[in-house]
Amino acid sequence: LFIAFEGGDGGGKSTQAALLAQALADAGHTVLRTREPGGTPVGEKLRSLVLDHGQGEIDARCEALIYAASRAAHAAQVIAPAVARGEVVISDRYIDSSIAYQGVGRDLGTEKISRLNEWATDGLWPDLTVLLDVSPEAGRSRRTATDAVEDRLESEPDHFHAQVRRAYLDLAEASPERYLVLDAGTPISEAAAPIRTRVLALLGD
Ligand code: C5P
Repeated sequence: LFIAFEGGDGGGKSTQAALLAQALADAGHTVLRTREPGGTPVGEKLRSLVLDHGQGEIDARCEALIYAASRAAHAAQVIAPAVARGEVVISDRYIDSSIAYQGVGRDLGTEKISRLNEWATDGLWPDLTVLLDVSPEAGRSRRTATDAVEDRLESEPDHFHAQVRRAYLDLAEASPERYLVLDAGTPISEAAAPIRTRVLALLGD
């Protein structure tokens, strides 16, 4: 089973991914937690490449291809083999991040980015995507000091983050069976419960 966590920065994706991983491990499942961009040695290098550059230094198409390249390695070397071994893979971000940030935020087009990533991953999509929906204002105030170091989109205006948010909500509306949408403002333990319930149901527990 493959679960992805998505949403704007500062929505608590890693906190919820960690709680879900713990709950599944407690229920006897083998869990693999991973993240994007990154997840493989080549992916981590691509992550530094894309996150360390200054605003505007990497062209939007180049950025989209770097994310897709990182994801190709991640899907082929980490996610698909773990799913084949019967493990539960929990990834912090996946294809929908590119659809939202590069497709809509950078205006490259959702259809094109979706097709690029469909090819890059050989059609490996998550069984469930958990969207932690966060407003640009709440996301900004919830980002921790540590996150901010890596957050190269910190300087993007609120309307960029608002577009990204809308893109995620549109994806969720288009495929409700593949999505669980939660308000990132919900207290941590309260938001964790429906995620756990939905995933355990998918596992047949
Ligand atoms: O989720 P995480 O904080 O690790 O993401 C690092 C940065 O990369 C964030 O600022 C995020 O908004 C950005 N990002 C992006 N396009 C993606 C994935 C992440 O711009 N496809």
